[in-house]
Amino acid sequence: MLHHERVKPPIDDYPPNEWSLIETSFRPEFAAQMETVLALANGYLGMRGVHEEGGPFVQNGTFVNGFYETWPIVYGEEAYGFARTGQTMLNVPDSKIIMLFVDDEPFWLPDANIREYERKLNMRSACLEREILWETASGKQVRIQSRRLVSFSQRHVAAISYQVTLLNSAAPVVISSEMVSPQLRERDDENDPRRTKTLRKALHYLAGYAHDRRIVFVHRTERSRMALSCGIDHRLLCDCPNRCRTDHAENSGRVAFTIEAKTGRPIQLEKYMVYHTSRTASADEMSRRAEWTLDRVVDEGFSRLLTEQTQYVNDFWRRSDVRVSNVKAERARLSTIEMQQAIRLNLFHILQASARADDGGVAAKGLTGQAYEGHYFWDTEIYLLPFLMYTSPQTAKNLLRLRYSMLDQARARAKQLGHPGALFPWRTISGEEASAYYEAGTAQYHINADIAYALRKYVNATGDEEFLSECGAEMLVETARLWYDLGFFSDRKDGRFCINGVTGPDEYKTVVNNNTYTNLMARENLRYAAETAEKLQIKRPEAFEKLLRRTRLNWSEVKAWRRAADNMYVPFDAATGIFPQDDSFLEREPWDFDNRPPDRYPLLLFYHPLNIYRHQVIKQADVLLAMFLLGHEFSLEAKRRNFDFYDPLTTGDSSLSSCIEAIVALEIGEYDKAVAYARAALLMDLADVGGNVKDGCHIASMGGTWMVFAYGFGGMRDYHGQLSFRPQRPPEAQASLHFPMTWRGQLLDIEISPDSTTYNLREGNGLTIRHDGEEITLSPLIPAVVRPTLQPLKKIA
Ligand code: BGC
Repeated sequence: MLHHERVKPPIDDYPPNEWSLIETSFRPEFAAQMETVLALANGYLGMRGVHEEGGPFVQNGTFVNGFYETWPIVYGEEAYGFARTGQTMLNVPDSKIIMLFVDDEPFWLPDANIREYERKLNMRSACLEREILWETASGKQVRIQSRRLVSFSQRHVAAISYQVTLLNSAAPVVISSEMVSPQLRERDDENDPRRTKTLRKALHYLAGYAHDRRIVFVHRTERSRMALSCGIDHRLLCDCPNRCRTDHAENSGRVAFTIEAKTGRPIQLEKYMVYHTSRTASADEMSRRAEWTLDRVVDEGFSRLLTEQTQYVNDFWRRSDVRVSNVKAERARLSTIEMQQAIRLNLFHILQASARADDGGVAAKGLTGQAYEGHYFWDTEIYLLPFLMYTSPQTAKNLLRLRYSMLDQARARAKQLGHPGALFPWRTISGEEASAYYEAGTAQYHINADIAYALRKYVNATGDEEFLSECGAEMLVETARLWYDLGFFSDRKDGRFCINGVTGPDEYKTVVNNNTYTNLMARENLRYAAETAEKLQIKRPEAFEKLLRRTRLNWSEVKAWRRAADNMYVPFDAATGIFPQDDSFLEREPWDFDNRPPDRYPLLLFYHPLNIYRHQVIKQADVLLAMFLLGHEFSLEAKRRNFDFYDPLTTGDSSLSSCIEAIVALEIGEYDKAVAYARAALLMDLADVGGNVKDGCHIASMGGTWMVFAYGFGGMRDYHGQLSFRPQRPPEAQASLHFPMTWRGQLLDIEISPDSTTYNLREGNGLTIRHDGEEITLSPLIPAVVRPTLQPLKKIA
């Protein structure tokens, strides 16, 4: 049940539009949300959707993925093995500021007489466009048009095209383009653990200079010793007399153009912004890197960046667009266009969070906000990678490779905790564990199994056996080792393999014995590790030799993993037929949902953790998540029983929950709930379902939204390398769904309409899939039409 129906209709200001999110008036009360949803990013560089004038803003921010400062975590009471070093993604200098003065009157949105206003996130060109008609106090009408992009083709680059036209009178105009170090603000809600730490003086100014129309700064972080260079440069296209003045001080600089503007003659400023980071380069080298990139982009011009941007995004949509038609507004409470807009916003933000992360990860909020300190979580493996591996496999591979690059740190962390093998960090940027609250942090050992699970799915989806033998196998061996050491064969549980003292996905229960999700996923991890070692030995002896050298693997270990997996203890309550979330879950006192005020969600902000822990109340899907991820191991009846039991206890206080509940609800024919959950996931950011969009987009839920359409309505399943579909649709639904996916390098289109399902292999040689259990062999460009589409499932009693 959605315990807090916080889903508001999309902000009235968004006119339905399939490809854009449009703000039609300046509404300061929505400023913080708009900063997030209108943020631009490319996976490396991100800028919040603050206006060109540099304000007004609630949380301005410019972020470079993986550029962070460390700080000592201070505990009131110390203990061995606690994470020692915090990591926070930094807010770096803001380079997008362009101040405008007409007749010396500053253009400042809150005070300006605005005659026309539109701001648009254009998801076809990946630009933030703004068009304003401003009337100055003396009646001069000024048209201001801007277009901003963070380049996908050139990851270090962002650019703005800024055009000013005086419509009814000539006047002196000043356009001052600036770059400023971030201003620190006190946080107003210190007790919200999801927000970021305010770091004072993290960035130290090393050098700065200005020449012609260019300014470059170099900074270094104090503790993490990372260097950042950023620079701006300009081209002014205008036939009115003008001059330019460039100056800079420590931490701020500007290039100001003074123009004798004539009526009806557009003044166009092109602004280029670049950011580079390094751990090793000197200050000189850093400034040179900025200069080289600036030289290139200024030379190439804005239109080239724009063309490249559009091409990049077109290609993304070709591989990834999910389309709907004929949506019944009465049921979904959204029209087709509104739903389409929401779907695309979700997918577009995933693109922005991941596309050019290259050797970085994807933070929980992408690069749209600093909440969760810019850390990478299991969100990537379980919520994001399915979408990425089926639409942008290279990005998926990069993200798995990032985990591989953390393996040595994970080995060291396991050792510190007294285990052989590797323990990946629950939250991190650098690869070190950065979670200060071990109960809901380090104790989430399931991160190991989540990575192994995503690896298996990736290898099945892409056929990338090379990656498995080069990197994956080693991760599997080390994670399996950890599980085997962590658990034990318990006499009190008939010699079954038990894993005690861990936290599952549901952070409202911590340090429990035999968390069902963890045990099931660990079993999968152990089996996959054993299978991979055996397979490599036979099929790739050289890779196997390498694996032996790198891990000193012993065959007795592989046997032991199999024994542990085969004897894995999975809590089961025969009386109710449900899988208790952990050994003690059913012992806990029921939470009095009926008498708790509805405005006290999320519970974590209003109740002491101990109060929450001792009750049967759940933050996010846990057993139900396992039943989705390992769905082939459970009957529909088991899914229904567990859904009926867990759904009322699940608050959805984490945005990672709704999408999973929607998928399971669809599978068991709980259509009303499925639609409600799907809607919550879909609108998580657009309608600010969780009330914290101001702090950044919910990237995991965005990935989950794709899963709702592909796995939920599309009924796609991919267990054990077999691709199958069993479309699910609510009774009487007239809607059609259309999505592409890449399977082993072949591009498949799936179109599900009320009376047929069509599979079309757009690129590739041939592919065998299953539809409702029946095998279908697809040949290129010969659509296979299956009629009739499955009847809606009957509700299972
Ligand atoms: C959730 C975690 C998630 C994290 C970052 C927390 O609220 O409980 O599962 O990884 O947010 O999104």
